[in-house]
Amino acid sequence: MEIPITKSSTIGLKPRPKSESELGFGKYFTDHMFLLDYEKGKGWINPRIVPYGPLTLDPSAMVLHYGQEIFEGLKAYRWTDGTIALFRPDKNIERMNRSADRLCMAPTDPEMFLEGMKTLILLDRDWIPSSPGTSLYIRPTMIATEAALGVKPSSRYLFFIILGPVGPYYPEGFSPTRIYVTKSYVRAAKGGVGETKTGGNYAASLYAASKAQELGYTQVLWLDAAEHKYVEEVGTSNIFFQIDDELMTPPLAGTILPGVTRDSVLMLAREWGIKVNEKPITIDEVIKAAEDGRLKEMFATGTAAVISPVGEIGYQERVIPVADGKTGPLAQRLYDEITGIQYGQKKDPYGWVVKIG
Ligand SMILES: *Cc1c(COP(=O)(O)O)cnc(C)c1O
Repeated sequence: MEIPITKSSTIGLKPRPKSESELGFGKYFTDHMFLLDYEKGKGWINPRIVPYGPLTLDPSAMVLHYGQEIFEGLKAYRWTDGTIALFRPDKNIERMNRSADRLCMAPTDPEMFLEGMKTLILLDRDWIPSSPGTSLYIRPTMIATEAALGVKPSSRYLFFIILGPVGPYYPEGFSPTRIYVTKSYVRAAKGGVGETKTGGNYAASLYAASKAQELGYTQVLWLDAAEHKYVEEVGTSNIFFQIDDELMTPPLAGTILPGVTRDSVLMLAREWGIKVNEKPITIDEVIKAAEDGRLKEMFATGTAAVISPVGEIGYQERVIPVADGKTGPLAQRLYDEITGIQYGQKKDPYGWVVKIG
């Protein structure tokens, strides 16, 4: 694939933080972006890299009316020897194509996806921060661009990739979160689109999250839509519990996002000989275990934070502490192992790391 590059005329002029400690998340974007068009009958055409900037869309573009939009999130890491590496990018490409299928969008060409992503990252590589815990966040996105009203799958799509440097999630070490169990709102129902990374899922989650924040909580813990009984996810992360000596997480039964971090945690825990179970878990079981002192650890998993320990659960009128509000040894070990592999400081026996430069 030839990727014509139009270099930005503002290289070196875009706002950057004074220090990498001020990066935060999702605030800065690099100089360029990768674009690729899809037209029914022609397939994916016109790959190109252009200066990062506004997109031109017809006001009738179908994404703006019917929400055909999907995205992904992964990171590029700068190692101390200068190597640039990705973590399991094949999983994100596969997942994006499952999302595309569910929303009747065009599947991406995995090779074009990876090639476009690599070329863009290497072009903007001096944006990749180097202090511990920092990385380059990668946001592949696809939107329906056919200019027409009427509910049907679009015949045209735009696939684009943007990049931005991000800071460490926990600059001062873990800070366990407070999460609020909602019985009033749901994230996803069986048969719906809960297992796809599509914008509408996040728009639909904002109200419950803002209610939880008003009560002083960081995130919402979602229960199943049918019975409000089974635990599903926390915010936009998967959730794990260690009760007695068993590590458990809800199964992928259609309403839960199949996280790459979730999969990596399950693989490592099994490798370490920990008893692991993917099974339905009721909120009552979790609360009882917490009260009986059997809930040893509870943590969320996702690309942004990797592992995010939970220190407190708000449930109905009660506040239930988890493991004295401290980070447990398993959460710490998983965090150290996964980040160690991502930054090339630990062996990668699973072939998770893809070096690109
Ligand atoms: C992205 C996401 C996750 C985490 O997936 P990772 O691949 O581990 O980053 C979990 N839940 C939801 C709802 C998500 O959108």
